[in-house]
Amino acid sequence: MSTSARGTPRKILVVEDSRTQAEALRAQLAANGYDVHVAKSGVEALAELRRWNAELVISDVIMPEMTGLELCRALRNDPALRGMPFILLTSLVDPLDVLRGLECGADNYLTKPYELDQLLHRIERTLESRQKRATRSANDSIEITFLGSTFTIRSSREQVLDVLVSSFEDVVRANTALRAAEEERARLYEQEKQARLDAEEAKARAEEANRAKSEFLAMMSHDLRTPLNAIGGYSELLAMGVRGPVNETQLSDLERIRRNQRHLLSLVNDVLSFARLETGEIPLHIDRVNLDATVRPLRAVIEPQATQRGVTYEFVGCAPEVIVMADSERLEQILINLLGNAIKFTSTGGKITVTCASKGGQGVVEVSDTGIGIPPSKLSSIFDAFVQVDSNQGRRDGVGLGLAISRKLANAMHGDITVRSVLGEGSTFSVTLPLAD
Ligand code: ADP
Repeated sequence: MSTSARGTPRKILVVEDSRTQAEALRAQLAANGYDVHVAKSGVEALAELRRWNAELVISDVIMPEMTGLELCRALRNDPALRGMPFILLTSLVDPLDVLRGLECGADNYLTKPYELDQLLHRIERTLESRQKRATRSANDSIEITFLGSTFTIRSSREQVLDVLVSSFEDVVRANTALRAAEEERARLYEQEKQARLDAEEAKARAEEANRAKSEFLAMMSHDLRTPLNAIGGYSELLAMGVRGPVNETQLSDLERIRRNQRHLLSLVNDVLSFARLETGEIPLHIDRVNLDATVRPLRAVIEPQATQRGVTYEFVGCAPEVIVMADSERLEQILINLLGNAIKFTSTGGKITVTCASKGGQGVVEVSDTGIGIPPSKLSSIFDAFVQVDSNQGRRDGVGLGLAISRKLANAMHGDITVRSVLGEGSTFSVTLPLAD
């Protein structure tokens, strides 16, 4: 607690027009043992000082009607209040404010926001200096010019020194805060740099692992194709009776071997295509492609398979002027894959419809089926490699590469494949490609 010589709490008048700031300051001072009164303006402060014998005034600088500097000057011109210790509270850090404060006769100042220890220390110093000076005679005035402005200062040496020490202290504090901020900034920069390096390293590692995987897949599938082709070739030779007569049972066994060989070969081919696409080894021959002329002939390939499964195939046809930029062979590969899936996942009595059109500056081919549909949670992942919707009903032959290959091919042609589906009702796959000029 701060007490006067008589042991009573020190009396401080806070002059502040902001109610919240006044209350905050009052509470801080009261908590540290001061007896505090608050005035909301300079005029109110003058009235209060005539009524109540405060020992120190802390005043805001910027207030309506009468500023803190004007209040300070009014006190210094009032014979009864001339010696009142006066601290200015300023939110500005303009160095001229310090001198303006000195000129009007303020004892010290404090820049907002301040810390409690700073506030208490300045109050105590101001009270002490005032006490010492009370016994001495006033100094002569001196004129100083700073940044083009002239100030007449009548303050005592202690007062000037107090203010200058305070401003030096402010500079030191600001500098310390600045250095801490600078160190923090440097630390964050280093942290961010390290995170970037880590991410780059992880990316390089992942790319390297992916490349190794693709190379391995390409090599494996290539090596598997040779013996698979041999199996196909020799079983055909046997079936033709080149090695001697073959009976009916043997012929049907040979046909089974051939069917399985073809299936395995198509899987291996899928893996090989995917691996080659991953390593960017598949060259594309992009040219003007008429959509109707590409889609129409697919009927010959698709209809027999569809009929075999009891599924109807319908191609609605497309306007002859829909021309896209694509590699026609790769586009055909994509559509055969989508149509193959549509047949695979549609039961007897169902229907497959193919439409094409130009929409929003793009050529679009849509393959719709009335099949089993795809659950919403799987709609995006079915385009990932080796992903199949895990339902006993839906899982048929294939390894889950068809859509991954198709989308990669479409992307390589600056197009895309998207899907809409309702479980149990059917799916629609849309292939979009850029229109030719
Ligand atoms: P695969 O057909 O070899 O399994 P795909 O990449 O072509 O691989 O398809 C991935 C999965 O997407 C399929 O296993 C299936 O679950 C689902 N799917 C693809 N097309 C359809 C479709 N038309 N209807 C229902 N599900 C489909």
